[in-house]
Amino acid sequence: MIPFSPPKIDQRIIDEVNDALRSGWITTGPKTKLFEKNLIEYTGSKQVLCVNSATAGLELMLRWFGLQPGDEVIIPAYTYCATANVVIHCGATPVMADIGDNFNVSLEAIERLITPNTKAIMPVDIGGFPCDYEALNALVNRGDIKAKFTPNNEKQEQLGRMLILSDAAHSIGATYNGQRTGSVTDLAVFSFHAVKNLTTAEGGAIALNLPEPFDNRAIYEHLCITSLHGQSKDALAKSKKGGWRYDVIEAGYKFNMTDLQAAMGLVELARYDEETLTRRKHIFDSYTEAFSAHDWAYLPIYETENKCSSYHLYLLRVKGATEQQRDQIIQEIFDQEVSVNVHYQPLPMLSYYKNLGYKMEDYPQALATYQNEISLPVFYNLSDAEIQTVINAVVTAVDKVMG
Ligand SMILES: *Cc1c(COP(=O)(O)O)cnc(C)c1O
Repeated sequence: MIPFSPPKIDQRIIDEVNDALRSGWITTGPKTKLFEKNLIEYTGSKQVLCVNSATAGLELMLRWFGLQPGDEVIIPAYTYCATANVVIHCGATPVMADIGDNFNVSLEAIERLITPNTKAIMPVDIGGFPCDYEALNALVNRGDIKAKFTPNNEKQEQLGRMLILSDAAHSIGATYNGQRTGSVTDLAVFSFHAVKNLTTAEGGAIALNLPEPFDNRAIYEHLCITSLHGQSKDALAKSKKGGWRYDVIEAGYKFNMTDLQAAMGLVELARYDEETLTRRKHIFDSYTEAFSAHDWAYLPIYETENKCSSYHLYLLRVKGATEQQRDQIIQEIFDQEVSVNVHYQPLPMLSYYKNLGYKMEDYPQALATYQNEISLPVFYNLSDAEIQTVINAVVTAVDKVMG
């Protein structure tokens, strides 16, 4: 069976994790701090804080911005549930926007949904393809949109407009106008979950690029405390001679990354461009070349003049397939020993959100996209022969089901 996206666990990873284990320091410490420094360099961000998941990172930043009941956060309907759940955790309301024709959230839909309660917008770089950040940044800075913004704390007053908190769970390494995601919005959060491009088993990182007069370094330092129970010192500082006494300055969270996770991340990041992205691009290009010969294939866009994907998910669509036919095609592909997936079931289709009152008919493009979408295997160790096996399995399955 060809799996969907197993991690690359090789001797380099094992050696680096071993090194952390043997050092005796396994929680947040020198490897996490080094990983943060390397992520700043790699993404071109002002500051980076590592956390134990992207979900934790997103929630931390919504809470940092002081979200509360009555506040609204605009998110795409077409995303993973984490994007919505973190808003709900804060007591605020996720307002779901439909997507455009390339999987990412529609700017027109966002603009229509803005109200005086809108505090933040959370775009998602689906599959690793960056959203239209220039347009999005321009939108929140536009006079009439700014005039709708109603700050209710000091940070919101300082920003003076809606916050852009990008869910960049898929898009580390992707570029927008030559700049890496993470550096093009106020805040962006990457995921290092096991199935993501760059993994630390579980983990995430917050890239901070808040505009003047925010002091990103000071915010980073405070977030270190907020993500560790509000303790004025972390375990490493406390372990130093005479450093035992600490204070608690707030009821913080337990969101810190461990050095075992960071050990994996250090190796993954060091080889990310040259090995990971190069191989993933090759797989994307191979799929696109093969499927472009077929009329039924609606190919994902992953490189344009000003954007380049991180090649996270290859989102193939089968033109004209109904949801039922798509499901049948998936069954046929599995019968040929190839694992595929669907990204995503739009949130309004899922029980929890449906019960909250979100209606699938309000998101026609998300529904149309979901119905005929199939995500294909993409991972470092997928060989050229296996790429061919995947292509053959898809073509055979589509021919059989669609005639
Ligand atoms: C994976 C994912 C997340 C959550 O990442 P974790 O690190 O597992 O918390 C959030 N948003 C999207 C779009 C994702 O795919």
